[in-house]
Amino acid sequence: MAIVCRICATPITTPPHNVTEMMYGSGEVFQYYRCQGCDCLQIGEIPDNIDKFYPTDYYSLSQDFAKKKSDGLAKKFKNLKIRSTVLGDSFLAKTLHLLAKSEPHASLTGTGLGLDSHILDVGCGAGGRFFALKECGFNNVAGLEPNIPHELSYDNGFKVYKSQITNFKSNHLFDLITFFSSFEHIANPLETLQGVKMLLALGGRCLIKIPVFPSLAWEMYKENWVQLDAPRHLFLYSIKSLEILVKKAGFAIQRVEYDSSAFQYWGSEQYKQNITLKSERSYGINKERSIFSKADIKRYKKLAKKSNAEKTGDQATILLKVV
Ligand SMILES: [Zn+2]
Repeated sequence: MAIVCRICATPITTPPHNVTEMMYGSGEVFQYYRCQGCDCLQIGEIPDNIDKFYPTDYYSLSQDFAKKKSDGLAKKFKNLKIRSTVLGDSFLAKTLHLLAKSEPHASLTGTGLGLDSHILDVGCGAGGRFFALKECGFNNVAGLEPNIPHELSYDNGFKVYKSQITNFKSNHLFDLITFFSSFEHIANPLETLQGVKMLLALGGRCLIKIPVFPSLAWEMYKENWVQLDAPRHLFLYSIKSLEILVKKAGFAIQRVEYDSSAFQYWGSEQYKQNITLKSERSYGINKERSIFSKADIKRYKKLAKKSNAEKTGDQATILLKVV
């Protein structure tokens, strides 16, 4: 079967890569095609039963984060760290950055947000990342997730709406709309970005954190590259393919930050050795029973840092502005 690239419309003539579902280890094989026009790697056919690959224990749907009871002081410190990471401009922020940024929120640094900015996280699962923002004083944050049984309302006022972005009705516009590891799961990326544009306030921006292709991890592991995540990841975008896509929707890329982690190496190494992500022997589940020594992980962390500096890491955060 030959396919036409869904991003740049080039007829793809290269043979596909056969990629096995390995998060749960169902063993099903999916074909991925690399476009010679824009270098995007994409699934040949989106399975009709794609929902079955998002079981109820899929990590992003867990609401455990709202149940965590933490000691007052530790919680205050955590909130300060997140706040200063996102705001990124105060003396406190600079001091705290010397300690460490709040990792899941570090991508928001330098996006011009204030405590009253309207921010929407798309494909947020149960909403843990922005629930934490609400906890530390960001007043107008919300989440959007089509794959939840019903709208979620938390005690602190944070809400996750059940909707696709293309038909989401909001009574105000947003300063920032984010996609954290969700955009690569979306089958209609152009319509999605057009929907984002309609919801942005003047000067508003869009931030997308995604796996990027090709990368050193891809070169090293090919079909065992963990971020292929067949068949959930429909597109593994190259920067070139993203440029083409966002331009069609009326955006331009303002900033690309490579922020891949050791995961790209330990996850891929596990797949190569036929160890699924959900296995008892997976480093993500049980470090002690995993195949890695502390030195291995240290080496992977170092390699990830180097890959990011050389722009060959397998993940990036991309900031878009309206043009
Ligand atoms: Zn293409």
